[in-house]
Amino acid sequence: MKYYSTNKKAPLATLAEAVVNGLAPDKGLYMPERIKRLPNSFYKEIDKLCFTDIAYSVADAFFGEDIDKEELEYIVRDTLSFDCPVVKVSDRIYSLELFHGPTLAFKDVGARFMARLLRHFKKTGKGETVNVLVATSGDTGSAVANGFLGVEGIHVYVLYPKGKVSKIQECQFTTLGNNITALEVDGVFDDCQALVKSAFMDQELNRHMLLTSANSINVARFLPQAFYYFNAYARMKAIGMADNLVICVPSGNFGNITAGLFAKEMGLPVKRFIAANNANDVFFQYLQTGKYEPRPSIQTIANAMDVGAPSNFARIYDLYGGNHDTISSIISGATYSDEQIKEAMIACHNQYGYILDPHGACGYQALKDGLKDNETGVFLETAHPAKFKETVNSTLGIELNIPKRLADFMKGEKQSVDMTKYFDDFKNFLMNE
Ligand SMILES: *Cc1c(COP(=O)(O)O)cnc(C)c1O
Repeated sequence: MKYYSTNKKAPLATLAEAVVNGLAPDKGLYMPERIKRLPNSFYKEIDKLCFTDIAYSVADAFFGEDIDKEELEYIVRDTLSFDCPVVKVSDRIYSLELFHGPTLAFKDVGARFMARLLRHFKKTGKGETVNVLVATSGDTGSAVANGFLGVEGIHVYVLYPKGKVSKIQECQFTTLGNNITALEVDGVFDDCQALVKSAFMDQELNRHMLLTSANSINVARFLPQAFYYFNAYARMKAIGMADNLVICVPSGNFGNITAGLFAKEMGLPVKRFIAANNANDVFFQYLQTGKYEPRPSIQTIANAMDVGAPSNFARIYDLYGGNHDTISSIISGATYSDEQIKEAMIACHNQYGYILDPHGACGYQALKDGLKDNETGVFLETAHPAKFKETVNSTLGIELNIPKRLADFMKGEKQSVDMTKYFDDFKNFLMNE
């Protein structure tokens, strides 16, 4: 399968090229040339299949032409070393819990898959070290760092905004050492993302070292996220709740929801999607006005969604030929202030005893507000509440237990490099690596 750029000014790329390039040379995002529909027989039986079997069928549709069956099966199974269960919250609202992986957020799925795919391509390619650059507003850094930790021939640079990620998030990528370097950037997330984008565009730097991105712009990160949409549908079908299914996705860079939209294009019978934003509601505004106007991000308690210029908007736009009517018929929006997020957490905890993290809370509340009478909703609980322990404890007046795999990260020693938000400084640093 070949991959084209959303800007349509770059040559078609193979899967290996798309994964290693990250961003296309014309600054567009790679899209698979075809989105294969899975057969009706698959959907008929899907509720009888297990998660990994479902995931393999989805992976095969995208990657089957480029990776042989046994290897792909191994990559899928090794990626999904944990479950993504659907848990009932209220009569018509269910939580797709995506926090059972090693760093307790959904990004483990894409990051683990990408690390394994890159290792596969390295085995078959030349010996040069691949340098993965990743900008993070919190959870991407930990998922990518842990997904790639100790993978030979790959070095990871995590760029994160100083003072804007939680302590727990920070220690998940600053304490690892080995092939992981953390850069603490004096700026906001968008500055980190801009540094990474500039690095890919800099010819001198690209001659010096082989660079790739592990942000959700990378096809190997974002496509595998489709796996759990299929699984959610299957589990809902198994309990007879899959008709008129609405899936609600707490969104920042929009990689996660885009994977869901791809699933729908593959025939997954989801009725519609809701994109839940925090106060960074550029997409919500687009739905209302038809105008896409990025603006600087502002800090909220759902910090992994603090994105002012969502990269994957380009993919959504491309997928639907830029048609605002089509886009707003498939996706509706919602936006919540920090106060409203806290109210949602409190109400859900009081009414149903379910503890939401601030991101999932946006998803939950958007279903509460937007679900029609005949619909059933699943929201993506994108991170474990313990990752945002301070906010959750103070909002709910409880003392959360910290899962052991999270507590273990806290024991390590922080190692990070101070960095400004200016590209010249970042480039200098990399040129001397
Ligand atoms: C990254 C992240 C999001 C946003 O996902 P996108 O794919 O960037 O839209 C939401 N919640 C959590 C917990 C995250 O880590």
